[in-house]
Amino acid sequence: MATNQPENDSPNVGLTADYRPLELEREIREFWAQKQIRAKLELREKDSKGNLGYVEGPPTLNGIPHIGHARGRVMKDIRYRWKTMQGYYVPFWAGWDCQGLPVELEVEKLLGVKNKRELVERVGQERFIEECKKVILKYHREWVAADKQLGIFINQEKAYWTYRDDYIEREWRYLKRAWEQNLLEEGHYVVAYCPSCQTSLSSAEVGYEGAYKEVEYPSLFFKFKKTGTENEFFLVWTTMPFTIVTDTMLAVLPEAEYAKVKVGNEVWIMARQRVEPVMQELAITKFEIVGTVTGRRLEGAKYDYPLKDIIPKQAELENKHPLVHHVISVNFVDVNTATGVVHLSPGNGEEDFWAAHERGVPIFAPFDDEVKFTEDAGIFNGVFARDADYPVVEELRSRNAFVEVKKTKHEYPTCWRSHHKLVWLARKEYFLRTDKISSKVVEAAEKIEYFFDEPKNRFIAFLKEGKPWCISRERIWGTPLPIWTCVNCGEKKAVGSKQELLENALEQVPANFELHKPWVDRVTFRCPQCGGVMKREDYVLDTWHNSGASPYARFTDEEFKKFVPTDFLTEGIDQTRGWANSLLLEYVILTGKPEGPYRAFLFQGLTQDARGRKMSKSLGNVVETNKLLEKNSADLCRFYMMRKCSPIDFMNFDMQELNRRSYQVLSTLYHLSRFFMENAEFDNFTPQNKPLTLGRLAPPDRWLLSKLQGAITDHTARLGRCEFNAAVAILEDFVIETLSRLYVPMIRKELWTDEPETLARRMDIYAILHYALKVVTFLFNPVTPYLSEALYQRVYRKLDEKLPESINLEAWPEPDSHLVDKNAEEEFDVLFKVVSLVYAARQQAKLKRRWPLRTVIVVAPENVTAALKKVEPIFLELSNVKTAKYPRDMPDYAKGNEWVSTIEGDVSIVVSGQRDEKLLGEGIMRDLARRVQALRKELGYMPSDVLDAVHIAGLDPESSGLVEGYLADMAELVRTRKVSLHNGIADVADADWHEAELDGKKLFISIH
Ligand SMILES: [Zn+2]
Ligand SMILES: [Zn+2]
Repeated sequence: MATNQPENDSPNVGLTADYRPLELEREIREFWAQKQIRAKLELREKDSKGNLGYVEGPPTLNGIPHIGHARGRVMKDIRYRWKTMQGYYVPFWAGWDCQGLPVELEVEKLLGVKNKRELVERVGQERFIEECKKVILKYHREWVAADKQLGIFINQEKAYWTYRDDYIEREWRYLKRAWEQNLLEEGHYVVAYCPSCQTSLSSAEVGYEGAYKEVEYPSLFFKFKKTGTENEFFLVWTTMPFTIVTDTMLAVLPEAEYAKVKVGNEVWIMARQRVEPVMQELAITKFEIVGTVTGRRLEGAKYDYPLKDIIPKQAELENKHPLVHHVISVNFVDVNTATGVVHLSPGNGEEDFWAAHERGVPIFAPFDDEVKFTEDAGIFNGVFARDADYPVVEELRSRNAFVEVKKTKHEYPTCWRSHHKLVWLARKEYFLRTDKISSKVVEAAEKIEYFFDEPKNRFIAFLKEGKPWCISRERIWGTPLPIWTCVNCGEKKAVGSKQELLENALEQVPANFELHKPWVDRVTFRCPQCGGVMKREDYVLDTWHNSGASPYARFTDEEFKKFVPTDFLTEGIDQTRGWANSLLLEYVILTGKPEGPYRAFLFQGLTQDARGRKMSKSLGNVVETNKLLEKNSADLCRFYMMRKCSPIDFMNFDMQELNRRSYQVLSTLYHLSRFFMENAEFDNFTPQNKPLTLGRLAPPDRWLLSKLQGAITDHTARLGRCEFNAAVAILEDFVIETLSRLYVPMIRKELWTDEPETLARRMDIYAILHYALKVVTFLFNPVTPYLSEALYQRVYRKLDEKLPESINLEAWPEPDSHLVDKNAEEEFDVLFKVVSLVYAARQQAKLKRRWPLRTVIVVAPENVTAALKKVEPIFLELSNVKTAKYPRDMPDYAKGNEWVSTIEGDVSIVVSGQRDEKLLGEGIMRDLARRVQALRKELGYMPSDVLDAVHIAGLDPESSGLVEGYLADMAELVRTRKVSLHNGIADVADADWHEAELDGKKLFISIH
């Protein structure tokens, strides 16, 4: 592609004066593409330490990738780059979730279709499926672009697509396996049903984050008359009056005590302990308990169902089973709420359903696909279930069955896709009887590593519910359920492959045949039992079954053996009920063993906006990855997201923070590398000729190298525990504190000379910096791959062309025990602590750090003073003090006014605050030197450049006099041949003067 960027196709050029991440990332992206670095990693399988299996948690291609997705993808990429550098082979291959309700709803929106009926009639299934494919391809481009920008090293060519025939075929094998084990069954069960999407949902989907919304509902007290009595009634409460249409029984708790309560001239039956609260709620002050009875004694009592005249089917039910409209006693009744008498609607409630099912009581569920009552519901025919709530109340009122209705707010589950309120309905569906294998599933789950307890507990608690999994969906764009049923005798057949289907099909299949509706519906078989025609059950699969089949469906048999169980997967915390769950269930069914398809699963916290709000289209606060990365660095985003919080925390993504601390850290690493490179090149350092020599290390070197070994060990251990934030903090601390703030200031001056006699020491420092910075650059690679690659190419490969072509082909750093020196670390801990006390004393007395002081006195325990004495030159240098004394007790003279002290624990120090002329002069010189250094940098001089001259004009006569004697020192400090002072700027012709300031007074500096 032609660009108007400077010709820079080799990244092997120098480092620019500023860290310009966007430019650098563009160049590195081109480098990776041109040299096919990603593909080269793929070739290393043979020489690897071993395989670490991986299967991609496929993003659904129904939307644009946002920053929350990016966060998870970066974690995957970190793991990949890290493990690859450790020498493992990881099949880090992409995968895309293409089918199911999310995609269908996206296409429905595009086509402007309101519901499924309209879709089938107006659009047609063939066209609909074509549109679904178009939509996923459109979003696929966005995702691939985002991965590329972010630097996700995932293999896009080997991606799996869950809608393709080869994938679906292998998914069918899961189902056939389940069928053969009697774990796949057809049945009438109560399922959560979305009237808008017109399909049932799995119990996992009902529990999704954000699925519960607070809604207002009627709170209805009603009464059913006990048959054969004058005035006795069962008092019942519900928030779903429409379920009285499908009522078939009342239930009480067998052990509980029930009271007969006289209210007016009626007697109401309710749990004894609920009498007072309920009467209070109903504002009934005059009532009397006239007797009590246990729940068990109420069993078998009949009640007059009041709506028989308007729902004739209810009268017929009474003839079908003796328990219809009778009281039963069951253990699930709660006598701590409401009236302790519950009405059962087996067509609308899960527990109700099972209570009826066990007793053979018919299930009355007169609903169509839009959850409107059918004609079996009498006068409610055609009414949407929840719209029948108040009409039912009115009917009860006119039949003396009404007591009181109020409005109440409570949490009610809605559809996670359409946000329509869900309705519980008994429907014919297909179920995986995961309840039968629940103990195996839990056993498998307990063997898995989750890194953090909270998500682990949440996941296992969910699995322990062990509910049957409703996998059938009454939709179109999905994996077809491969079950055919004989229209004659009901014989069923599960199909496990396309070949099996083609061999048995009664008709010629067309050329464009694919394993989707409507084509697959046109295939029929001959029934082996009766010779009748077998037709496919008109369902597609839950999309979670589709993606949950990936460990088997995305690989060949050989790959499956090699890569599954996978080593490490990570997805959002919401996937405890999604992919993590379906993967595990399907794998246990497939293998029959209590084992999971993954050894470790990291659940990530979700990502929110800066104010902690959920990102949503309606709030307009969604941060789209591609848009973000047009103007922001991928490395910065990656570093920021990993550093900000623990992977399991909810992250508030704040654009304002992005370019602050994270930029500082990466920029510091960049400039340290540049600092090293410029000095090293100046002295013609090469790492091959000058390796690190242990015998010649100075104390700061030993300290630095020992700290680095600790950083390697800790960082690697934290990565292994997925504590990415803590792992990155170790790198940050090493770069900002250890290297930049502490080590480099200790050695910088040694690099400022170019005398031949100090060359050996300079070479040692280069060797140390080379080693330390290179190791750090490697450690940064998983988190900031662009910066690391750029430094690798422009510093390390430039110094040694024999290095591997890319940092990604390098080996992960290992700590070197020879370089560990705990004593040095302790000595320097003491040193830095005491130096910080000196700084505190200076601050108290307003003595600037660069003003040299005469004496520091340290009174401290033996081990502290011993450590200080060992590194005394550094102590004096860092403290900027001429001499140090270590008396046992504080001398009396040091208690005078001119002395300043600080104390921390058992360490006290005092410094002399008196400044003599000599020291004042040196102090002014250091002030001036700092300004010259800043100017050198500003004007783009390299640290190694030696200036011809430095001119300073406008200094007051007193200061000039004081500093006079230090000009030679200053010349050495700022690397110039000569420093001269002038009264005014007119003294030097043609000078390029720069304004500066010293203690509030203006002065001018010129350098060349
Ligand atoms: Zn829905
Ligand atoms: Zn048959």
